[in-house]
Amino acid sequence: MPDNAPSILIIYTGGTIGMIVNPETGSFKPFDFNSISKQIPTLKSFGYSLETISFEKPIDSADLKPDTWVKLVEILKTHHSEFDGFVILHGTDTMAYTASALSFMLQDFHKPVIITGSQLPVEMLRTDGKENLITAVEIAAAKKNGLPIVPEVCIYFDNKLLRGNRTTKINAEYFDAFNSPNYPYLAEAGITINYDTKYIKYPEYNKVPAVHKNIDTNIALIKLFPGISEPYLKSIFSTDNIKGVIIESYGSGNALTDGWFVNLLTEADKKGIIILNISQCVGGTVDMGKYETSRQLIGAGVISGYDMTTEAAVTKLMYLLGLKMSIKEVKTYLQVSIAGELTK
Ligand code: ASP
Repeated sequence: MPDNAPSILIIYTGGTIGMIVNPETGSFKPFDFNSISKQIPTLKSFGYSLETISFEKPIDSADLKPDTWVKLVEILKTHHSEFDGFVILHGTDTMAYTASALSFMLQDFHKPVIITGSQLPVEMLRTDGKENLITAVEIAAAKKNGLPIVPEVCIYFDNKLLRGNRTTKINAEYFDAFNSPNYPYLAEAGITINYDTKYIKYPEYNKVPAVHKNIDTNIALIKLFPGISEPYLKSIFSTDNIKGVIIESYGSGNALTDGWFVNLLTEADKKGIIILNISQCVGGTVDMGKYETSRQLIGAGVISGYDMTTEAAVTKLMYLLGLKMSIKEVKTYLQVSIAGELTK
């Protein structure tokens, strides 16, 4: 292998890509690294230097907790200088949460972190896992003038490279499981991989990489629906230690105008609970004040999450609360882009 061959670390966390069918139940269950490692000889023909790390106990990502993000950033930090790029194999169910969380927890990482997985296990004939894995490795290794083409946390899936913190799972059936409705693709893979470099975030290379591992999960997520009741919402806002509540509102950030609702929000804001407004719509942005039905939220102290995905809003709020800043600072950072996750 030439000395300058790109070096890639593949980290296997679990997910369908490596699953097998449990003969007793007929359901997919997480399995060891065997099925993935069988793919490594094929990958070797790239001429890259490849190494792998497998979680001792691979998980179905529905079981994921923030400690997995901490484990991942620790692995990435430890191996930062040894590898040109990183590929994380992950279940699709919470992949967009992990991609978003890592984009905040890794600071000035400067190297590609490409997360992928599959809808069908890699051992199945019609699997999408092989193509996803092979192209994710190629993207993680891609360089121009000695620098990585995509020094971001991304999701690669079904021929599309998406910014991680802009991505949401949109399909549980077809291979195109992910999309980033409010941000263009960073690349599309056909006969060649076409990178759209104007949309890729390039870092300042003089900054030293840092990781933040403190995640505060004292938050809640509410999806509004017609008929949502006062006792239900009261119970959420009076949860012990609650520090932030994300409201998935209607359309461009609209909500009910009932007095009890506005009072509840106003009181919560006075108590120091941060209330972040994002939209239930996957495309478009919150624009409080556009309609009369969102103006009352501004008065109640609700802040805008603009066009953030739910996954980005949840993980950003947990990350910012974990930094132990003042409420005012958390509110300020929630409303600006810190890792390319929102457009104002
Ligand atoms: N339940 C699986 C997981 O998220 C689904 C998948 O990988 O596609 O781990």
